[in-house]
Amino acid sequence: MVAESDILKALSIIIDPDFNKDIVSLGFVKNILIDGGKVAFTIELTTPACPVKEEFRRQADEAVSALSGVEAVDITMSSKVTASQGKQGIPGVANIIAVASGKGGVGKSTTAVNLAVAMAQTGARVGLLDADIYGPSVPRMMGLAGYKPEIDHENKSIFPLENYGVKTISIGYLVEDDQAMIWRGPMVASALGQLLTDVVWGELDYLFIDMPPGTGDAQLTLTQKVPVTGTVMVTTPQDIALLDCRKGIEMFKKARVATLGIVENMSQFICPHCGESSPIFAEGGAERLSLEYKTEVLAHIPLDMSIRIKADEGTPIVAAVPDSEQAKIYQALAGEVARKISILNNRKIDIPVIMQG
Ligand code: ADP
Repeated sequence: MVAESDILKALSIIIDPDFNKDIVSLGFVKNILIDGGKVAFTIELTTPACPVKEEFRRQADEAVSALSGVEAVDITMSSKVTASQGKQGIPGVANIIAVASGKGGVGKSTTAVNLAVAMAQTGARVGLLDADIYGPSVPRMMGLAGYKPEIDHENKSIFPLENYGVKTISIGYLVEDDQAMIWRGPMVASALGQLLTDVVWGELDYLFIDMPPGTGDAQLTLTQKVPVTGTVMVTTPQDIALLDCRKGIEMFKKARVATLGIVENMSQFICPHCGESSPIFAEGGAERLSLEYKTEVLAHIPLDMSIRIKADEGTPIVAAVPDSEQAKIYQALAGEVARKISILNNRKIDIPVIMQG
C-alpha cells in the first residue's frame, strides 16, 4: 500500500510560482486519506481565485496517480484567504482593496463592479463599498437602484444589499436621488465614516472600495481611516489620465499603501461591427508608468460597447455573459489581484515582493 510519505514526496515537485516553494513545504497539502488503492487529499490555497488552481490539481493528480499501488485519486481544492497582517480594521473583513483613479470618467466604477463580481465567482466572500458619495454608481451597475438596505437605528447597524454574490453598500441606497450632491464637506465625511464603521459585512475575504475619483484630501483621509491592503489604479491610456494616475500612485505611496498594480481601461476600441481593435487612445503608457513605479499592469480592458451597455442595465458583463472574452479579462484581473494580496500577506514566507508600500 502507498504510504503518506510517498504522496508528500510526489506532491513536493509542485512549485507555487508566487512563493517559489513547493506546495508541501508551504503547508498546502492537508487531510491525506489512504484506503487501499484509493487516495484522497486537500490542497488548501491562499485564495479561491488562484490563477494556477487547475494547473495544481492537474499536476497533483498526475504525480500521485503515477505512484505504484494508487488506483484512484480524489483531490479537493480549497482555500483560506489570509488576512492583511496585523491590520484588521473592519470586523470580519480580511482584506480591503481600494479601486482608485486620478480623475473621473476613466471607468473606475465599472472596473470595481466587474472585478468584485468576478472575484465572487471564484467562491470568495466579497463586498463592495461605494465611497463615491458625490457620484454613486454602484446601485445602478449592481442592478440594485431603488433598493433600501435594512437599518438598525438602535444599534447603529446598516446591513448591506447583495446581488451577483457581492454584498454592497452605497450612499445611493440611503438617500434620495442626487441629494448627497449638495452636501458640504463635513456631511460627506460623516456619511463616509458611517459607511466605513456601521456596516455589518459578516465574514469577507475581500472588500473592494470604489474610491471617489481624484487625489485630494477626501481620498487620503479614507486611506487613513481604514487599513487598506492595497490599491488598484484605473487609468485610460491617454497622457492626461496617466498624469492623474501618477498623482494617485504618489498619494498612496505617501499614505504607505501598496499599489497592487494598474488597470488600463479603454485600452483598445473593439468595433461592434467587425470586431477589429484599434488603439484610439495610444499605446504603452500604462506599461511605462508601471516600470517607473515598479508595479505591474494587471489588465488591459478594451473600450467595448457591451461593457457599457451591461453596466447601464445593472448586470455587469461578468455576470451577464461570464464566458465572454470581456468577462475573461475581468476574471483574470481578479486572479491577479488575489495573487498580489496573497503575496503581500505571506511575505513572511520569504518571497521577493516587487511592489512598493
Ligand atoms: P468612473 O467611475 O471612473 O467615473 P465609470 O465606471 O462610471 O467611470 O465609467 C464611465 C462611463 O464609461 C460609463 O458609462 C461606463 O459604462 C463606461 N465604460 C467604462 N469602462 C468601459 C469600457 N471598458 N468599455 C466601454 N465603456 C466603458
